[in-house]
Amino acid sequence: MREHSDIVVVGGGPVGAAFALALADSEFSVQVLEARPHLRQPTFRRTLALSYGTRLILERLGVWSALRKVTPIRDIHISQRGGMGVARLSATEEQLPELGAVVDYGELDAALHQALANSAVQVVTGARVVDSHSTTTYASLQMEYKGRPECVTTRLAVIADGGAGQANRERREYAQHALVAWVKSELPHGHRAYERFTDEGPMALLPDQDGFALVLTALPERVNALLAMPEADFLAELYQHFGERLGRFVQVRERSSFPLATSHTRDVVSPHRVMIGNAAHVMHPVAGQGFNLGLRDAWELAEQVRASGREALGDMVMLKRYAVTRQFDVSASMWFTDSLVRLFTQPNPLLDHVRGMGLLALQQMPPLKHFVARRMIFGARAW
Ligand SMILES: Cc1cc2nc3c(=O)[nH]c(=O)nc-3n(C[C@H](O)[C@H](O)[C@H](O)COP(=O)(O)OP(=O)(O)OC[C@H]3O[C@@H](n4cnc5c(N)ncnc54)[C@H](O)[C@@H]3O)c2cc1C
Repeated sequence: MREHSDIVVVGGGPVGAAFALALADSEFSVQVLEARPHLRQPTFRRTLALSYGTRLILERLGVWSALRKVTPIRDIHISQRGGMGVARLSATEEQLPELGAVVDYGELDAALHQALANSAVQVVTGARVVDSHSTTTYASLQMEYKGRPECVTTRLAVIADGGAGQANRERREYAQHALVAWVKSELPHGHRAYERFTDEGPMALLPDQDGFALVLTALPERVNALLAMPEADFLAELYQHFGERLGRFVQVRERSSFPLATSHTRDVVSPHRVMIGNAAHVMHPVAGQGFNLGLRDAWELAEQVRASGREALGDMVMLKRYAVTRQFDVSASMWFTDSLVRLFTQPNPLLDHVRGMGLLALQQMPPLKHFVARRMIFGARAW
């Protein structure tokens, strides 16, 4: 561990690791502090839907080609249960090879860390940061490292710890839990992802290998009942819930659940300290946008750091410039996802009609559809 580095990244999850990698060949010394004792140990199993824009960034970081379990998404089918209107987004219409792809969080994490291991960036595992302080010229970070307290200093502390344990956050609870699982259907996915809004909550089926990654949201009691069901009953319930587009569901594994909430920090930047990724904002998972947004934070911050030069590293002029650049993408993404979830989960027959008209309008108006697709793929750069 270095006592002082130009940049210290707290958290070597995919956002922190990508940020460090983006600066691996820069003039700055970069150190990553990661709480996990070993890198090949993600805290959970998770699949991520990555937009095509995210793929382009990962290609530039040199890690895309290392991913083996990649399932392309070529179409997205959006519908509501019991209501009219269907919208379809397609890669062909957007003149792209694909709209996005589904990858495994653990594999992405491993690929990023393999690239870091071959770079000048120092990654310290088993280092849990517990406190930080800033002066006008540097930040200091206190941590627990192998059972003893340690401290490092830096010109720029980049907090990418996923938001774990931060008190100063705006938090909004949804009265729902999410159930995640891997499922297989009778009919093949044909590289199509499904977003379906039901009066119980939205659900997503993302093509993953020869099946789907499922995210289903509902009231906690309902999710608990679905978790406890024997496999055959669960598959039958899922068929009822989703409808017959994919035939029957024939296999399920790795069912788990968690409560749904979104949150964001009030102070993304303070002297010599900045938050990125989930540390700055946690989104509803059903739209599959959290990591995509976090990676855009990482990429933009790396660009600002390169442009700032050594003297301005971590000062408030540089950090505010970063915050302003990111503000629109972050707030628009959070607002869009939150509004979509709220609009489509109000059990109101009148709203059913409005929602159906909305989906029809999206389908019938190519410029609107093109805009929504570009917004999902490239974030604020779609403008
Ligand atoms: C079920 C589910 C499905 C999702 N699906 C998608 C999707 O399809 N597409 C998408 O874009 N996003 C998705 N997301 C969101 C996505 O997982 C997150 O946005 C992404 O993981 C954020 O990355 P991160 O690096 O900011 O944080 P994390 O992935 O949480 O990583 C944080 C890292 O910091 C480390 N750490 C924590 N505390 C400390 C500390 N004190 N000191 C040092 N290190 C620390 C942790 O060990 C971890 O390695 C999903 C989320 C969920 C829950």
